[in-house]
Amino acid sequence: NTFQDLGLNDDLLQAINDLGFKKPSEVQDKAIPILLEEDTDLVALAQTGTGKTAAFGFPMLQKIQVDSRTTQGLILSPTRELCLQITNELKQYGKYCKGLNVVAIYGGTSIQEQAREVKRGAQIVVATPGRMKDMIKRRMVDISKIEYAVLDEADEMLNMGFFEDITDILSHTPQEKSTWLFSATMPKEVATIAKKFMHSPKEIVV
Ligand code: AMP
Repeated sequence: NTFQDLGLNDDLLQAINDLGFKKPSEVQDKAIPILLEEDTDLVALAQTGTGKTAAFGFPMLQKIQVDSRTTQGLILSPTRELCLQITNELKQYGKYCKGLNVVAIYGGTSIQEQAREVKRGAQIVVATPGRMKDMIKRRMVDISKIEYAVLDEADEMLNMGFFEDITDILSHTPQEKSTWLFSATMPKEVATIAKKFMHSPKEIVV
């Protein structure tokens, strides 16, 4: 398969070309057609380094409306480093998506500055659970209209004790959204999250 075969649009294909990606990785090959074609929940078992950020990033970038400033996509990730890494990757992948705004939300730095960035209109928010919960409580971010929620490295987030925060955050999102869960392993806790928040998810393993 080529990226074109997977159904990606020209804005994304151009960025992929600039980055020098020759062909889709296995997780991209499996996830992208599903996520582009259906509004479905997805559980993907994939390690880091497999290209999973693009596996959820490309479909999300293709499906959001960049001419709207409403936050439509939320990505939760365990650490500040990952959060920044995902944000940078999405900005590269979406460099030809005119009007796209991706904002990183994480602790240990000015919450006011992050709130200002969100207020300018971010279609995608990439966040660590603790800071995200805090900003929701302080009404600095509105995720009541998101259509896509990604739980990235779900096993790590649960290991770090974020179960309550994740539950709290998801309770502020609409029922009808699609939830995409990525995890390297599938311990009981991850299965519990999937069961609690997802509806007949498709499953892929790489
Ligand atoms: P990830 O697993 O998402 O952390 O991605 C690992 C690295 O692989 C990142 O630096 C990506 O830029 C790169 N990458 C993602 N997809 C591809 C691809 N299809 N071909 C080559 N490199 C890729």
